[in-house]
Amino acid sequence: MSDIIHLLPDSIANQIAAGEVIQRPASVVKELIENSIDANAKHIQISIKGAGRTLIQVVDDGKGMSGTDARMAFERHATSKIEKADDLFALTTLGFRGEALPSIAAISHVEVKSRRAEDELGTLLFISGSKFEKQEFVSSGIGTSISVKNLFFNVPARRKFLKSNETERRNILSELERIALVYPDIEFTLIENDIETIHLPITGLKQRIALLQGKNIIQQLIEIEENTTLGRVYGYVSRPEFAKKRSANQFFFVNNRYIRHSYFHRAVMTAFEQLISPNEKPSYYIYIEVDPDSIDVNIHPTKTEVKFENEQALWQILMVTIKESLGRFNAVPSIVFDRSDAPEIPIYDPSRASSMPKVNVDPSYNPFKTSYTETHRPSAPSYDWEKLYEKFENDTSLTVVNESDTTASLLSSNTVDAFVADSEHYPEHYQYKHKYILTSVKSGLMIIDQHKAHIRILFDKYLEQIINKRGISQRVLFPEVIELSASEAVALDSINYDLEALGFELSNLGNNSYAIQGVPSEIDNNNPVQLIHSMINISIKTGSDVKLKIQESIALQLARQTAIPYGRKLTAEEMVLFVSQLFASPIPSYTPDGQRVLSLIPDDDIEKKMH
Ligand code: ADP
Ligand code: MG
Repeated sequence: MSDIIHLLPDSIANQIAAGEVIQRPASVVKELIENSIDANAKHIQISIKGAGRTLIQVVDDGKGMSGTDARMAFERHATSKIEKADDLFALTTLGFRGEALPSIAAISHVEVKSRRAEDELGTLLFISGSKFEKQEFVSSGIGTSISVKNLFFNVPARRKFLKSNETERRNILSELERIALVYPDIEFTLIENDIETIHLPITGLKQRIALLQGKNIIQQLIEIEENTTLGRVYGYVSRPEFAKKRSANQFFFVNNRYIRHSYFHRAVMTAFEQLISPNEKPSYYIYIEVDPDSIDVNIHPTKTEVKFENEQALWQILMVTIKESLGRFNAVPSIVFDRSDAPEIPIYDPSRASSMPKVNVDPSYNPFKTSYTETHRPSAPSYDWEKLYEKFENDTSLTVVNESDTTASLLSSNTVDAFVADSEHYPEHYQYKHKYILTSVKSGLMIIDQHKAHIRILFDKYLEQIINKRGISQRVLFPEVIELSASEAVALDSINYDLEALGFELSNLGNNSYAIQGVPSEIDNNNPVQLIHSMINISIKTGSDVKLKIQESIALQLARQTAIPYGRKLTAEEMVLFVSQLFASPIPSYTPDGQRVLSLIPDDDIEKKMH
């Protein structure tokens, strides 16, 4: 029997390769545009007919090809972009395999016209089904035009596999979008069935995003930027309140190439974790630039998956960068209180029977005890309740009920002084069902959830205390003893420093038992043993070595336990203070775990309801 192994003819090898590289019209569009970009084109025009089945033409003003090169370009593994294996690790071009043009030519009718600046005449070349048809000189502009007609004409199985025109068109648009988002300095024009449907002039990145996604996106984006020795991360993420229930625009690009990266995606989601609810999705356009030899783009022929050498470190950089930007760029639209038509504090009406104001003073309340006063006024607390009550006695519309330590801790002395001095200039917020604060803002009626708002206020405060070690400890007369398991004791070691920063003081009694000698002054009514247990368990569950994350969990836990509950009546000045403290937060609209704190009924909606 004779030997049975023989080499496949190039035409068949190319068809097989085409199966990998060219799955649909959109793949052709992508490969041709990438070639134009690699050829330094500044203007690229794409024409499509029949959703790319009938015609895909890409015309560029790049550097063009010589007659020989144009012919060579269609040979398998013919490329001008790498010469030796080492070049693979220093890639700066989008293509490098030399596979696209021969693959495309194997399954369609291709026409190439190209001219370099230094040549007087250009080249016109025809290839169909890998078969070279003819080549001639032609007069043409500088650059390259490649037309791909009748895609898959000789692979009926592939042709059948194509989806509806609408789907194929959408795929083309999304390939174009992924490329256009990286090259705002290149002009793109898309012509579909002889009609220009997309025109993207040369602009900046933000403008390019707006042209592709609608101009409303501009105000929704927050810029991110970080340079490190491992690489540069920049781009935009959406403000948390613009997160979407359904599909969001989420793009990663590495070294100018669109990629998918589920691990980095999780870094973004972690940064947003406490700002949006779990079923919402932020949009992002994130560009990562790293040393080309620290990535491997070679693991997938269509190259949307990329392996990074420093994946974990980049994860951290990404997460922290986004988190910081979200915090820094006050992640909500700025709230301007509408004083002009704010309801005035009701004026005393002598015709109405008036009663003595109810003033329930908590006799155990000690203004000298709150850490708040002390941190803000290191010298002496000047919180003058006498003066405050005197003021209220003359104002029947204000009722001070049931002062407690918790609400008192809301009141920073400075702001109360300001209120007393200048009460008529404050809008009077209105408390609804002992649950919501309603207030008038420029664009409508704002509804604030009192419990959740207080969680946000306290969380910010506790986190600040932990980070700046500002918590004030209150010594306990009869220390309770907390007994921990061995693993809890280990976990306690790692968070003890943060607990101390908050004001907890634990002394080790041996055998994993600790005496609680001091507690943060805010937690009076809470069981400290239970609080410490839950904070230890949260840090175990978080299992993170990201310190900030553990600190946030602790701050959140404490904020939840100590926030004013629903059903608590708030006084007018408490509400003023409450609202001003809430809006001092960089992120007032959501609790740290992503629950909505406030909501706005726009004026338009109110108008509509009233007609
Ligand atoms: P690769 O891009 O991986 O090198 P291709 O098959 O896509 O492989 O292209 C082969 C070669 O043809 C490229 O390396 C380049 O030299 C040349 N080429 C392709 N398209 C263009 C173009 N639009 N302008 C100039 N040269 C091009
Ligand atoms: Mg290419």
